[in-house]
Amino acid sequence: MTTPRLTRRSALFAAAAAPFAPALLTRPAHAAAEMMGATMPSFNRFKLGGFEVTTLLVGSRPLENPQETFGLNASPEEFAALSEANFIPADMSQNFFTPTIVNTGSELVLFDTGLAPEAITGVLAAAGYTPDQIDVVVLTHMHGDHIGGIAGDAGVTFPNARYVTGSVEHNHWAGAGNEGFDAKVAPLSDQMTMLDDGGSVVSGVTAMAAFGHSPGHMAYMLESEGQQLVLAADTANHYVWSLQKPDWEVRFDMDKATAAATRRAVFGMLAADRVPFVGYHMPFPGVGYVEAMGDGFRFVPVSYQMMLNG
Ligand SMILES: [Zn+2]
Repeated sequence: MTTPRLTRRSALFAAAAAPFAPALLTRPAHAAAEMMGATMPSFNRFKLGGFEVTTLLVGSRPLENPQETFGLNASPEEFAALSEANFIPADMSQNFFTPTIVNTGSELVLFDTGLAPEAITGVLAAAGYTPDQIDVVVLTHMHGDHIGGIAGDAGVTFPNARYVTGSVEHNHWAGAGNEGFDAKVAPLSDQMTMLDDGGSVVSGVTAMAAFGHSPGHMAYMLESEGQQLVLAADTANHYVWSLQKPDWEVRFDMDKATAAATRRAVFGMLAADRVPFVGYHMPFPGVGYVEAMGDGFRFVPVSYQMMLNG
């Protein structure tokens, strides 16, 4: 069967394949398997000390011309070069929307609610929770992709929850207004607890002022049994452009200079202390570390570190 010109590798392959060849030829043909479409898991759960933390993917969508959102003050050449260096296209990106649930063992706390009630309740069900189990809803800030799921045509989404948000943020929007705030948050204001920097949501969950993206945008430090994780919300909105270039201006940052200073402060602390964080718009499951690199930070996605938490 072999010829003198056959390589050793192809000879081995021919020998290995030969016993199966007759069966392949005589087996009846099956219909080709159906194309299923691209998928992603919708929730990711891990332990943090005595807490369970679940990130919930309530939506994901592509964005054209991302420099118009993430690099307003960068040159097209700089933007293209940084994108290429990180193996992502410069003309298209993918955005993720990731609320987080923290089960402290005594209370179930939801951070942000996505764009609409149907999305958050669907992913909650997939993750094993019902809306009436939510004890506390925390709003990091009042942009529509964070408050949209708190209420809808059917009323409030989480009937047993109390609500917590930053006082600076709430005060701003109570004056300035926006469609989502006026329709969905303002009616709940009487039931809302307002926090300032350092305020406590529940034991082990502490507010951190992270102003700039919005006037009173808050991050939250989780701490249980000596383990820490920061829910950074929209402190950085892209894992490459906003972390490697903290000073690149982001269209949705309402005070661009303050947002950049906040990125340097928050991620500088996370890099120094090697504390992981969840970013609401980071690629799902949205969990990673940062290390100081050049003039900014490099995002290091978690691999199995959280699985080792037991
Ligand atoms: Zn957002």
